[in-house]
Amino acid sequence: MTIVGIDDTDSRERGMCTTYVAMRIAERLRRTCRLDGQSAASSSPAANDSSDVPPDPIARLLLVRLNPAVEYKTRGNAALAIHVDCDPDLAFDVARETLASLAETADERTNPGLVVAGHDFHRAAIPDAVAEFAGRAVRDHLEIEDATACCERHGYPNWHAGNGRGRIGALAAIGAWRALEEWTVEYISYREPVRWGTDRRVDRESLFTAAEWGYPDVWDTVDRGEDETVCVPHTPGPILHGIRGDDSTVARAVADRIESEPVASSQLFVTNQGTDAHLREGTIETAREGRAYRLEGRVASEPETRRGGHVFFELAAAAADDDPPIDDGAKRPHLECATFEPTKRFRDRVRALRVGDRLTACGEVSAGTLKLEKFAVRDLVRTERVTPTCPDCERTMKSAGRDQGYRCRDCGTNAPSKESVPIERDLEGGWYEVPPCARRHVAKPLVRGGFDAPVHPER
Ligand code: ATP
Repeated sequence: MTIVGIDDTDSRERGMCTTYVAMRIAERLRRTCRLDGQSAASSSPAANDSSDVPPDPIARLLLVRLNPAVEYKTRGNAALAIHVDCDPDLAFDVARETLASLAETADERTNPGLVVAGHDFHRAAIPDAVAEFAGRAVRDHLEIEDATACCERHGYPNWHAGNGRGRIGALAAIGAWRALEEWTVEYISYREPVRWGTDRRVDRESLFTAAEWGYPDVWDTVDRGEDETVCVPHTPGPILHGIRGDDSTVARAVADRIESEPVASSQLFVTNQGTDAHLREGTIETAREGRAYRLEGRVASEPETRRGGHVFFELAAAAADDDPPIDDGAKRPHLECATFEPTKRFRDRVRALRVGDRLTACGEVSAGTLKLEKFAVRDLVRTERVTPTCPDCERTMKSAGRDQGYRCRDCGTNAPSKESVPIERDLEGGWYEVPPCARRHVAKPLVRGGFDAPVHPER
């Protein structure tokens, strides 16, 4: 039994994709192991019996999304692991050769890494320290030395090109099976190599129909609101489309229903996409740069749309449920929250917030700002204090002087203080999210369920 971990094979300009490299390694391992199996079988009396075809040595391919805040990432900070029933030395040789021939090493920012664990891939066989490393790779920042020290301690052979950074992701991909609890699937279809870099030919109508058919077992296939085919990438790499969901049979069936240019090959990946694995519990006081959090707070400034259509507001720390909707937010620790133009209609949800609303806000802290991925409305401000109107003439009263209430000078009527009036709100309690076109790979779509309040899913 062996786990092969790989990472950092692609370049933004030149294409390639680590999922493709992993699929090719798996193919070669399958062929090599089966050839070995057949030569062993050919010396046995039942060599011609078709039931002797060796079983598939590949148990699964993992597509692990690591901390999306990592600056070195090319796009989605993906690392890959192959769980294979074969000799670790053979796996190492096959993986190294494939990696060396496919990785875009001409790009100096591409730093491929390979780590091989020569032990069982069952969860319990993965050492504590390797699982812990994977957890940190998803939610925190690591150094190359952290990876090399861990590989050395566990006797994991490894190989790298460039600066060797890819070994961080490669080792994390090995530990992820034990570190993470929640898994989804992605069924990826690849293009014929001659077409790489050209426009993809995918029939939109069949794609929208297939997405509808598979929803909600598959999600983030399309964005109905923006009329966008989210599962079809725009990059020059080998992927034609990737169908994400909770059910591998449905994902495969959705892919089969899409009319397109020829599919050269396809592969199912087990993945932590759509699971919120990157989020940690935190507080506004202690949230740190480059990490992603769930934070409790109260809206402390009216949402403001700035140049470019980006929307900002301040969130103030508010711990207790019975915290009153007060105006003293300015005295508490604050964090700026932002939702950018590409989040499209989500910005209207954010603009509908008012000072005093109590929220759980989720996102990554970057340059001192929480980039919102989703939020839960816990408590909405339903009334506002306004200057009273005169019951006789219905005009707004005037202040009668400091601490003396209000008065209508024409009618002589008085009111002791401001009055409360109800406000119309366009939000309800519960979770709101960015639309599929703006979803981060690792962020959990509301339609997947398991949230602690009603959900308002985007599709
Ligand atoms: P690819 O498709 O090639 O995997 P990508 O967007 O996933 O593209 P990479 O090219 O893999 O990005 O670059 C990410 C780099 O950052 C890798 O070298 C990986 O080992 C490293 N890395 C991943 N997570 C962390 C982390 N938490 N701390 C430090 N480095 C990390």
